[in-house]
Amino acid sequence: DDRIHRIASTIRVIPDFPKPGILFQDITTLLLDPTAFKDTIDLFVERYKHKNINVIAGVEARGFIFGPPIALAIGAKFVPLRKPKKLPGEVISEEYSLEYGTDKMEMHVGAVQPGELAVVVDDLIATGGTLNAAVCLLERVGAHVVECACVIELPELKV
Ligand code: 5GP
Repeated sequence: DDRIHRIASTIRVIPDFPKPGILFQDITTLLLDPTAFKDTIDLFVERYKHKNINVIAGVEARGFIFGPPIALAIGAKFVPLRKPKKLPGEVISEEYSLEYGTDKMEMHVGAVQPGELAVVVDDLIATGGTLNAAVCLLERVGAHVVECACVIELPELKV
């Protein structure tokens, strides 16, 4: 699909951000290109429409950029998966490992019902630790995670 090459060409790579040795994939330049942004959303919509998906779960923060337009286009609800202490209602939380230390991801209780079909959306998968925590949260409340959808995969980090 030609769109994938065009989308890839809009992503800016910034060396040594946020730390020396890290090659940061910057999706904000993709967002500056309305055609590339629309093509990105369209590719996911084409994949997930007509699949009876109930839930698009977006991972803070960049899953909040790509998730909602996909949810609106396929007629699914959008559920934010947030960093600790951001959600005001009752939450369930999942701890996960980072390169150094751990972090937590939280979801509102009652946002997702048992048996619902969910897709998790984030901008990028590296080790998969973040998406794994998201899948755990959704499965703990009885949802079926159909797939995880990312704009960028770092293949060199595949585990
Ligand atoms: P993982 O848990 O798969 O190792 O890392 C993925 C998470 O880290 C995602 O939430 C993603 O937003 C963030 N992340 C790690 N490296 C990059 C990067 O180079 N660019 C962007 N945009 N996000 C990154």
